[in-house]
Amino acid sequence: MSTESTLLAGKVALVTGGSRGIGSSIARALVAKGAAVAITGTTQASAEQGRTALGAAGRGVLALGLDVRDEAQVSSAVSRVVADLGGLDILINNAGVGHFVTVADTTPADWRRIIDINLNGVYYCCHAAIPHLKARGGGWIINISSLAGKNTFVRGGVYCASKWGLNALSDVMMEELRQDNIRVSCVMPGSVATDFNGRAPAPEDEWKLSPDDIAQVVTDLLSHPARSLPSRVEIRPSRPPRKG
Ligand code: NAP
Repeated sequence: MSTESTLLAGKVALVTGGSRGIGSSIARALVAKGAAVAITGTTQASAEQGRTALGAAGRGVLALGLDVRDEAQVSSAVSRVVADLGGLDILINNAGVGHFVTVADTTPADWRRIIDINLNGVYYCCHAAIPHLKARGGGWIINISSLAGKNTFVRGGVYCASKWGLNALSDVMMEELRQDNIRVSCVMPGSVATDFNGRAPAPEDEWKLSPDDIAQVVTDLLSHPARSLPSRVEIRPSRPPRKG
């Protein structure tokens, strides 16, 4: 039976966008379970800030600057994790951004930016990581998607499209990789209290999920016995403000 600190002993995890928000909580939880962890931020400085914010948990954490839109940067970041931490077992594709504007008002440049980060970036990370996961005899890919990956709403055009695409990519990889002992899961949160989309949590946001709730889903997924694969997890606030 695994204990709190040994469940992931000997495992190496890479958390994209681990510099803050949900990714930071996931990184902290993985360290607590005994994994060697690498986090990324868009710049080396933000990644290092993220490591500092982890406090004692950040001590052994590898901090890397990475813009997931850049395929070459992704490839070197994954190689660096493997070289410095000895391999790769767990890829958490968490880096992502919001953009909530009508389709009519979304510029082509913004459309490309969001799809590049939220969808293409995940593909680049998976493409670079899969050979290393196979080399370890298996592993996990956990994609942080959103309920916006199954719902649509006004001003959600590019964000919903990116997350619907991510869910599809996730399901395809789940089927393609399961026989290689690589379990692919997609976590679909509702509103989480982070600085997402440039808005800091306010006192009236106390009904929202905590980033630690998403981290708990991730560690629960990693605790599942090898025979089972929860491939999609939806998680939402229990008591959002009533509508109407
Ligand atoms: P956040 O607090 O804004 O953090 C975003 C993270 O992504 C930061 O680490 C940021 O790095 C990184 N990032 C941004 N652009 C990047 C790029 N081009 N390349 C690499 N990394 C990049 O957001 P969050 O709320 O934690 O969101 C994390 C994930 O959860 C996202 O995929 C989001 O879509 C999803 N999600 C969020 C919510 C929510 O309500 N918050 C709900 C459902 C799903 P820097 O620190 O360097 O900027």
